Amino acid sequence: MNILTFDIEEWYLEKAYFGAKQTKYAEYDRLLEEILQKLSEKSLKGTFFCVGKMATDFPTVVRKIFDAGHEIGCHSNTHQWLNKMTFDEAMEDTHAAVDALEQCIGQKVLSYRAPAFSIGSNNKWAFEVLASNGITCDASVFPASRDFGGFPEFAKMEPTAVKYNGIEIHEFPIVTTKALGKQVAYSGGGYFRFFPYTFVEKRMKKVPYSMTYFHLGDLCPVISGVMTKEEYEGYFNEPGTAKARYLRYFKTNLGVGGNKKKLFKLLARMKFDNLMEADQQIDWSLQPVVSI
Ligand SMILES: [Zn+2]
Repeated sequence: MNILTFDIEEWYLEKAYFGAKQTKYAEYDRLLEEILQKLSEKSLKGTFFCVGKMATDFPTVVRKIFDAGHEIGCHSNTHQWLNKMTFDEAMEDTHAAVDALEQCIGQKVLSYRAPAFSIGSNNKWAFEVLASNGITCDASVFPASRDFGGFPEFAKMEPTAVKYNGIEIHEFPIVTTKALGKQVAYSGGGYFRFFPYTFVEKRMKKVPYSMTYFHLGDLCPVISGVMTKEEYEGYFNEPGTAKARYLRYFKTNLGVGGNKKKLFKLLARMKFDNLMEADQQIDWSLQPVVSI
């Protein structure tokens, strides 16, 4: 089982942090159109995790995805990391996001992904926040260490029922593999850009379950410049040292040129489901249960 997901935030980030350039909006519009077209050709349905602000500030984008038959999931309200919020802040953020998305599409939102996979052992309460806001499926766990969090103690790389403080959520974690001396992902983000196509396909065929995750920014062939100190600090809420900003630049732009082609090849050669389709196909009585 391979699950196809996209995180949708680029229009909002451009508006909030990068100068609201019409050329950028147009570029994202074109890229989205191309992706939706490709998915329609292959009869594939994905889950598109959208930030709540996309629903209020760019409702036509969210509606377009929804009208093409894809699942709309929640990707926080303003793309702030959950591990930098208090319980109350996370409650408020999730409520605002789910509410905005549901009003936009006129349907319940049941799936969630935290920005930067920011649910870990220090903020397990996030599962309670999600359940209180009607979320039944989550795809926020990255079961290895990473730049902004990760949840290595989770230790499961297959659909898993998470129990916490009386609630239960169906978790669809990222799958990692040992490469470059550590556990890394390969079916999304910067790792998908980094690894050769054949490596990714071979790994995905070897395991019974894969979770993909793509951002439109990863698929645009336009190379963005090094962020200014102010842009970096405004966006990441971390000190914008030259080292941090250049590292981010290289990570952001590595392999961007051929990435869309790689994605389309994957879509042509593999079968995918979205989160809701997968959730319905799974016999949860056979899946692991993790009490955290
Ligand atoms: Zn994101």
